Amino acid sequence: IEWTTEEGWHDAKVVPYGPLVLDPAASVFHYAQEIFEGIKAYRHADSSIWTFRADANGRRLQRSAARLALPELSVDDFVESLKQLVSVDRDWVPSAPETSLYLRPFMIATESFLGVRAAHRVGYYVIASPAGAYFPGGVEPVSIWLSTQYSRAGKGGTGAAKTGGNYAASLLPQEEAYANGCSQVLFLDSVDTTYIEELGGMNVVFVKRDGTLVTPASDSILEGITRDSILQLAEDRGHRVERRRVSLEEWREGVASGEIVEVFACGTAAVVVPIAELKGDGLSIVSPVAGPDSLTLSLRAELTDIQYGRRPDPHGWLTRLDA
Ligand code: PMP
Repeated sequence: IEWTTEEGWHDAKVVPYGPLVLDPAASVFHYAQEIFEGIKAYRHADSSIWTFRADANGRRLQRSAARLALPELSVDDFVESLKQLVSVDRDWVPSAPETSLYLRPFMIATESFLGVRAAHRVGYYVIASPAGAYFPGGVEPVSIWLSTQYSRAGKGGTGAAKTGGNYAASLLPQEEAYANGCSQVLFLDSVDTTYIEELGGMNVVFVKRDGTLVTPASDSILEGITRDSILQLAEDRGHRVERRRVSLEEWREGVASGEIVEVFACGTAAVVVPIAELKGDGLSIVSPVAGPDSLTLSLRAELTDIQYGRRPDPHGWLTRLDA
């Protein structure tokens, strides 16, 4: 869908996949005025195709747009764009267990203009790619790397928006994580470098001995929709949920004293992953391994059962895409 200041949103169409032709002066190339979303389409046993919390993703795209001075796309148009794309070829959505069609909506400044100001011409697109099961052999705990030198987002910056610049800032520490045998990097807050923010592409949740779930509250992290859903399911089961600042020290002491019994990361791609270890310069916090009876894995199973239509959807989180 195209947008200009004069016409607003117009010219919605589905076209065969291929290169986008953009002027080399398009402002997205120079000032990174872009935002995106990540959402999946799931095939249910009766072959119908559904997506999960499309309204929440649509609203998050609107918040990202506001921060990046991009135009607002209505949630209805967002959901319709997913429906249109999926309806091109229903066979696109795989049917093997735990597979999905990953949908990547994104919005970029396409105006050819080298002055630094919000673009007057913008494009919104959705591409898709079938995604295999994230853990074909069963969920595996991960080790994560603490970035002490770099932060992902600063106070007043774009941390709460889903915009490419945040990910650009995380690539170098992510490489550091890989080089140290870790799959994700953990960022601390940029002001005090004391409080846990999030991983490069996932949120973090702690489970305490009394069943309370604690997750970092910060205005510079991405409000994950998986995290929100998992915490809702935990609340439905009667667990207390705390959204507040969590220091690295609280993690270290909590694990040492047995107060923290499980730690997990969550996001659309992997859903929920137990964190086995946090490593960093001279630091190692080995968290208890989440066993088959853990809250981590049972909440994961409940959420994926809802997404794949294997159990009722009590919060009305699913939207049918192929009808
Ligand atoms: N934080 C970051 C930085 C992310 O990229 C993601 C993935 N979108 C998340 C958290 C988790 O968000 P969600 O559960 O909505 O996928």
